[in-house]
Amino acid sequence: MNCLDITNIYNDCMKDQSCLFCKIVAGEEPSEKIWENEEFVCIRNKYPVAPTHVLVIPKSHIRKQEVATPAVSGVNSPYNLEEFWGKIMSAVFDVISELKLENSAYKLVNNGRGYAHFEHEHVHILGGTKTEPGGQT
Ligand SMILES: [Zn+2]
Repeated sequence: MNCLDITNIYNDCMKDQSCLFCKIVAGEEPSEKIWENEEFVCIRNKYPVAPTHVLVIPKSHIRKQEVATPAVSGVNSPYNLEEFWGKIMSAVFDVISELKLENSAYKLVNNGRGYAHFEHEHVHILGGTKTEPGGQT
């Protein structure tokens, strides 16, 4: 069994009814999907802070504190963290290639604690400008 248990992606037990990202994955909320594989989807950020600003999101409702190390979250993760982060970063680099950012500039952002606006884990990819994008992502 892989770390995300993809057989349960569309099972309600893997979906939080109040989670915007789960609704996007289920097609219940509009989004501009630009890439996906079996376990992750990439959408454009509705409120971009850079010309290219996309989010790579696991299709399962995986909460940020569930994929942080015990030193950060204070609890043991139910997931294989090396496998999860390997897979999400592989998806991130597939998207960087898809968007042809590999030869220009890009920045990855993973918000935590007080900067995290959604509990559903995700990674931001920002690029498309010669000046480094920042601010609230
Ligand atoms: Zn969710």
